[in-house]
Amino acid sequence: MEYQPSLDSIQKLSTFAAHLGLSLAPHQLEQFARYAALIQAWNKKFNLTAIVEEEAIFSLHFADSLTVAPLLVQERMRFSEPPTLMDIGTGAGLPGIPLKIALPEWHVWLVDSTAKKVQFCKTAIEALGLHDTHALHARAEELARRPEHREQYHVVVARAVAPLPTLVEYLLPLTRLGGVCIAMKGRQAQEEVEAAQRAIEVLGGVLEQLQPVALPERDDRRALVIIRKQRATPEAYPRLGGAPRNRPIGSR
Ligand code: SAM
Repeated sequence: MEYQPSLDSIQKLSTFAAHLGLSLAPHQLEQFARYAALIQAWNKKFNLTAIVEEEAIFSLHFADSLTVAPLLVQERMRFSEPPTLMDIGTGAGLPGIPLKIALPEWHVWLVDSTAKKVQFCKTAIEALGLHDTHALHARAEELARRPEHREQYHVVVARAVAPLPTLVEYLLPLTRLGGVCIAMKGRQAQEEVEAAQRAIEVLGGVLEQLQPVALPERDDRRALVIIRKQRATPEAYPRLGGAPRNRPIGSR
């Protein structure tokens, strides 16, 4: 029999979403339930994510992903065209799929360098009936060298992908002028921001905010690093061949 999430998990997510200012309709909660069921089913075959317990899927993966939503709502007011979000290193679709479920108006691109994860995202997009949502099998650095993706997205987000000095070289070249990139970070956020200062500046960004976020019933410290794209990223970036990871900008 297919796994069904408990009503308690769904109710807690709904309450947390309301606390963030999001009102999730029954069909959206149903989408979260089906998404959790898919993650569990696929995890039996592939190692999609380390977190597989139902309670943790809802309270860590889904709730954590939704902490970005208020920012998207705020950004949405800055422009009139359809809003675009790219999620780099999305894995099983996090945070991109929860954000798309909560804010269906956004056009979403889910990007990962691992083929089986992209295959899962394609299955989830289809099963949940998510429109204007694309899953791309690519490395961020390669994508940013293609004109149809370079500096195109209002918001570029990433969760648990790389240390910030490396991550900004993945995200900022894809972010459009005036847009923002958001790095979802843990307790080391402040130190990471300090280490990434030079890279942020070189790539055309400016640190806008380090916003603390809290999850229900958890006391681990988290933060959103919000970087505004102010100037075009120089042509030389992002570098290919693993350079952002092996020799982050500003490292000695
Ligand atoms: N964001 C998801 C989450 O929070 O559960 C997945 C995190 S997982 C630890 C990191 C993912 O980033 C992996 O799926 C990996 O394949 C992908 N990744 C790492 N470097 C990447 C790059 N340069 N471009 C695209 N994907 C990348």
